[in-house]
Amino acid sequence: MSAEAAEVLCEPVLKLAGIPHGFGQRASQVPDSTTFPKQVHGTQVLAVDRPIGPLAIEADVVLSATPGMSVGIVTADCVPILAASRDARAVAAIHAGWRGLAAGVIEAGIDALRAAAGAPGLLCAIGPSARGCCYEVDDPVRKGLAERYARLLDEVLRPGRPGHYLLDLPLLATRIIQTIGVESTRIGIENRVCTLCDPGRFESYRRDGVSAGRLRHFISVPPAIPCQG
Ligand SMILES: [Zn+2]
Repeated sequence: MSAEAAEVLCEPVLKLAGIPHGFGQRASQVPDSTTFPKQVHGTQVLAVDRPIGPLAIEADVVLSATPGMSVGIVTADCVPILAASRDARAVAAIHAGWRGLAAGVIEAGIDALRAAAGAPGLLCAIGPSARGCCYEVDDPVRKGLAERYARLLDEVLRPGRPGHYLLDLPLLATRIIQTIGVESTRIGIENRVCTLCDPGRFESYRRDGVSAGRLRHFISVPPAIPCQG
């Protein structure tokens, strides 16, 4: 296997807007100054205007509206969501596993990003995470999601073995983002691939247990352009 660092995965909706970002693969890199929160499967939002030490503050959304700042989250099956205002003024990285989804982490992150940007129009991208081809869950997970998203679960949860279901986490994340007003054409799903299916490229906690590493994802506010006067 090559020892070279893998490339991050980019999403056209963010790339076309000039927003630096990347979904991680095994051994891919993020900018050195990227700020990562200490993720706890909650709904807390951390807004940063300068790089802070790694894992210093608990949050599952990290956002910035400071030119040049990079924010990131790590995952191994949970859904990474990278979002930005259309004018690239503010960006956010959201960590959404089933517990975070059930608690409303996407709504919390999108609300905070809209407030930070001062504008409702957003771009979102969904990254590699556990899909319905592989990801088996039990009834407590179904109940937890159904309490909040009963109307969105068609095709997201399919019956599996008795008492079990196959859950498509990133499909549910996509539907939630649509439900809270982001147009489908502004939601990038090119990298909405299954982490369990591809051990060569992706870490997976479900597949590899405690030996699983983490994929690192980032998004950056573009640097300020000096006045040309
Ligand atoms: Zn799969």
